[in-house]
Amino acid sequence: MVPSTYSSEDIQLMIRDSGLRCTTSRTTVLTHLVKATAPLSHADLSEVLVPEGFDQATIYRNLTDLTEAGLLNRLDLGDHIWRFEFRGEHDHDDGEHPHFMCTDCGEISCLAAVDISFTDGGKSPHLVGEINEVFLKGLCTKCA
Ligand SMILES: [Zn+2]
Ligand SMILES: [Zn+2]
Repeated sequence: MVPSTYSSEDIQLMIRDSGLRCTTSRTTVLTHLVKATAPLSHADLSEVLVPEGFDQATIYRNLTDLTEAGLLNRLDLGDHIWRFEFRGEHDHDDGEHPHFMCTDCGEISCLAAVDISFTDGGKSPHLVGEINEVFLKGLCTKCA
């Protein structure tokens, strides 16, 4: 992933531009996700931020607010755990890109530069209306 070049002023500005009030916890949550190289769950963020004095409910509310404001993508990668990622970081048409999960170690990667096209060969025209999310499973390079 490309390292983030957002300053803390940029992040505060993004929060304000999205119509939210710029609180310390919102700024901290968004800063962590801007720096993250893979989508993070509420548990992942709590692990880091609770020791810093933030409470889990606040972190959860911040994630919901930032998602509703359009700054984060919320992903359900099939394991019923919501993961969040910063939307602006990825240079993709509409901010959507495929994700990959290693079935062995559970690591999730963003495939921001990968284009996956879906062809049904015209055989199952009623099967797919619209694809919103592409999610691949397999083994990462460490586990393969
Ligand atoms: Zn792995
Ligand atoms: Zn991603």
